[in-house]
Amino acid sequence: MKRTNDQKQPSSMDQNKAEKSPVQRLREANLKATRPRLLILSLLHELKGHYSADELAEILQERQTPLPRASVYNSLDALLNRGLVMMADVGPGRALYEEGSTWHHHFVCIVCGDVVNIPCVKGEKPCLTPESVPGVVEEAQVIFRGRCHDCLSKVEPHQALTLHP
Ligand SMILES: [Zn+2]
Ligand SMILES: [Zn+2]
Repeated sequence: MKRTNDQKQPSSMDQNKAEKSPVQRLREANLKATRPRLLILSLLHELKGHYSADELAEILQERQTPLPRASVYNSLDALLNRGLVMMADVGPGRALYEEGSTWHHHFVCIVCGDVVNIPCVKGEKPCLTPESVPGVVEEAQVIFRGRCHDCLSKVEPHQALTLHP
């Protein structure tokens, strides 16, 4: 899966002024600020993308701050339960995690697997409720599937014709 990182990252000093530190956010969520939770929360905040638990473990390893896989999973679970982390439903495959933010949906490229946030018109869940439900709906995640601009631009001319009938 390709990692897009074209957004300019604000310096850590700007971040401290503008928003709460990971320690503050953990405390407000009534979670102890353990090292694994801090590492994962900070990493997701910095990366701004959608990552599997295994990818997060690999990145931490590359950065010389390795965590045991079980610790990555446990921390993600705790952060997920308190809404500090969200799980992106992008279809079958690995569960992808991202920093908790406004409720949104995802566009998934069927060619390269890129995952892009799509704003939700309502911005909170559940944003869709069917007419009849055999229970209570807590959330509705929409997956938009298609081809991203990158992949469309790589399509051969004769294939492009079939894409735009
Ligand atoms: Zn693509
Ligand atoms: Zn997302």
